[in-house]
Amino acid sequence: MNYNAILQEIHQETKALPVIGNVASTIPELANVDSNKFGMHLTTIDGQDFGIGDSNEKFSIQSVSKALTVTLAFSFLGEKVWERVGVEPSGNPFNSLVQLEYEKGIPRNPFINAGALVIADMLVTHLEHPKEDFLDFIRTISGCDTITYNLKVAQSEKDTGFRNAALANFLKSFGNIENDVEVVLDFYFHQCSLEMTCKELAHSFFFFANEGKTKSGQQILTRSQVKRLNALMQTCGFYDESGEFTYKVGLPGKSGIGGGIGALFPQHFSVATWSPRLNEKGNSEMGMYALEQLTTKTGMSIF
Ligand code: GLU
Repeated sequence: MNYNAILQEIHQETKALPVIGNVASTIPELANVDSNKFGMHLTTIDGQDFGIGDSNEKFSIQSVSKALTVTLAFSFLGEKVWERVGVEPSGNPFNSLVQLEYEKGIPRNPFINAGALVIADMLVTHLEHPKEDFLDFIRTISGCDTITYNLKVAQSEKDTGFRNAALANFLKSFGNIENDVEVVLDFYFHQCSLEMTCKELAHSFFFFANEGKTKSGQQILTRSQVKRLNALMQTCGFYDESGEFTYKVGLPGKSGIGGGIGALFPQHFSVATWSPRLNEKGNSEMGMYALEQLTTKTGMSIF
C-alpha cells in the first residue's frame, strides 16, 4: 500500500474543501487556535511513519484523552471498571446530564463527560500521584517524554467548566465519585489539556492497533481488552455522531473538541488527524473527511 501517495492525495483534496465549521467555543483558550490548521499522521504496524500538513504541531487532545484514561483504569481494574460505567452508546451530547438521572448515576460509557469523570475518579483513587503518574503513562505509550499538560488550557476550562462541575456533583450525589469533586475535576481538566502532535497521537494509539503492545513493545492491555476498548470507540467514540463516523469511515477512534481524532485499523495502522473546525456535533469536519478518504482509497476499514 502506498500510504505516502494516498496521504498526499488526501492533503490536496482537503485544500479544495469549502471552509465549514467553527473552532470550539466552550473553552476560551481553545478559541485562540488557528482554524486553518490541518495535519494527519499514519503509523503502520511495522513502524513506518507518514505525515502531511501540520502533523508535527501540538494541539489540545481534549476528549481523545478519554480513550487513554480508560485504558489505564482498565489495565489495573479489569472488568470492575464496568460496575461504575456502562458500555452503551448514549445518543446524547457529550456533556449531557439527562441520562444520569434515570440511570442512577451510572454513565452510559467512558467517553461522555460523565463517564470520563468516573474514570478520572478511579485514577485519582488508584494512582499515588495521579497527574504525574498519568503523564508518565502517556509518555510511555507514546514513546515521547516531552508530552505535557497545557496549564493555561486546564485553567481556562477550570474557570468555565460549570457543566462538568455539575456533572461531577451529580455523580457524587449517586455515590459514583469517591474522591473530592474538586480533585477529580482538576485531574479531568488536566487530562483534557494534554498536547500532542498528530505523530505523537498516532504513536499513542499504536497499541490499540497492535493487540495491546506499544510501538516499543510494551504490553499495555491484553489482546482481549484491546478488542473491547476498540469496540467501545467504534460505538461511542464520536459523541452522538458515532453511527455517522462508523458509516463513513469504518474505524474505531476517538475525537476531541480540540479538533483531533485518533483512530486505527487493527493489525495494520494507527492514524491521527487534526483540524480545529468542528461540525455541529463537535467532531472535526476535515478530520472526518480525511479519514473517510483514507478508508475509501485504501479499502482498509473493519467493515
Ligand atoms: N474538556 C472538554 C469538556 O469536558 C472535552 C470535551 C471534548 O473534547 O469532547 O468539555
